[in-house]
Amino acid sequence: MKREEPYHLWQAALGQLQMKVSRPIYETWLKDTAGVSCDDGVFVVSAPDVFVAEMLEHRMYELISETLQGMVPSDVDVRFQVARSPAYAEQQALVLEPTSAVATAVAERPEDDASSKNGSAPQPVAQPARLAPHASPLNPKYTFETFILGNSNQLAHAAALAVSERPAITYNPLFLYSGVGLGKTHLLHAIGHRLAAAGLTTIYATCEEFTNEYIKAIREAKTEDFRERYRSADALLLDDIQFLIGKEQTQEGFFHTFNSLHMAARQIIITSDRPVTSLTLLEDRVRSRLGGGLTVDIQHPDLETRQAILRVKADGTGSDFPLEVLAFLAERVHKNVRELEGCLTRVAAYAQMTGSEISIDLVKNALADTLNPSKTNRISEQLVLSTVSSYFSIDEESLKGRRRDKQTALARHVAMFLLREELNLSLAAVGRTMGGKDHTTVLHACTSITAKINVDAYLRRDVINIREALTKG
Ligand code: ADP
Ligand code: MG
Repeated sequence: MKREEPYHLWQAALGQLQMKVSRPIYETWLKDTAGVSCDDGVFVVSAPDVFVAEMLEHRMYELISETLQGMVPSDVDVRFQVARSPAYAEQQALVLEPTSAVATAVAERPEDDASSKNGSAPQPVAQPARLAPHASPLNPKYTFETFILGNSNQLAHAAALAVSERPAITYNPLFLYSGVGLGKTHLLHAIGHRLAAAGLTTIYATCEEFTNEYIKAIREAKTEDFRERYRSADALLLDDIQFLIGKEQTQEGFFHTFNSLHMAARQIIITSDRPVTSLTLLEDRVRSRLGGGLTVDIQHPDLETRQAILRVKADGTGSDFPLEVLAFLAERVHKNVRELEGCLTRVAAYAQMTGSEISIDLVKNALADTLNPSKTNRISEQLVLSTVSSYFSIDEESLKGRRRDKQTALARHVAMFLLREELNLSLAAVGRTMGGKDHTTVLHACTSITAKINVDAYLRRDVINIREALTKG
């Protein structure tokens, strides 16, 4: 094939793809790609950054492959490559192998880490972060180098990397969400380290810190200073935005801070324990701002990733964990990465205290409460029911029953809404907890509360109060 042919071939493929996908999809993922080469049955497409490459690879591979097959005489395999991204290229293989990219990443990282520990190769030294005055420090352990890749976090990792390489160019804001303990804060700090190493001023704050600072500024009539400080940053890293829920005044402050940074083309990265659409108690304008850039989630780690994480982290404890013990843990502990780490630490401490070797029996003793299925979930469902019923002064039986007076129906809907939002229960599971309701009834209740919350300030207050009561436990 002649040198310019892949280029033209890909342009033609783009023409067809444009008709197959929606315009936003085309604009976001395909527009800036180019055909690079076609040798030995491998067609290489370049993408502007890692995130686009990963996205094409994972979400659009079939479609692209199909389109290309129709245009070339023999079978081709499509690969995606990042156009200019030396840092990422060093860290990962430049060419993402179709289908095996994730497995490769998982398989290789722990080895990399191990070899840099054992061998004489110098460990990468984390650059001291250049933080804006008063910003919270970044955890030096939370870097891209220590982040273990797997299916569950691949996209979030790629997005974080893309943002740290090209801040405020492509994905602004970047909104990262996941359940607790799955690596949001870790990635956020990793971005912070990279940006700081590139000489940019970053402000990292948990949403609680942001709130306290804002309230203090208002109290001391220093909101101008507050604004000035945030406005001077090249990047704002705000952790756990869900804490803005119910804090109208701080939302206002956040909204203005966000707008001025965004207008000045500064990078904003935000994490949350739930998707933007579920931040139902935030004002609409704040929510739409948050969702206006790129949103990525981190899923729970699969078995393979849990194994990889355990291998690397077990090394870090300095204790000797036999492989069978790690396999045992990977099978049984799946809540999140923090829990995996916690188990390793507890087992190591237990072994040291008892002066014994680490074995499966020892693990069973050390982690008796974690490994035995606890009743925490049931208790939490129960807690939602009892909290809602006491808040509305309705007994639990009526809450789960069929009485249809206005107050009871409202309380029932709120209970279903909270079971779903707070416990992430499926519609069917909520239905069961609520005394055998149909899943469409549950769906209706949740949609209705979501809609009402946005227009009814009293109901909003009610839900916030109940939520607070729930977290205080
Ligand atoms: P979150 O902010 O989502 O609640 P964190 O970022 O605090 O979670 O992660 C919890 C712990 O698990 C941290 O110690 C973090 O370093 C670790 N962790 C999470 N994901 C990974 C990963 N992919 N690789 C290595 N460590 C991880
Ligand atoms: Mg966190």
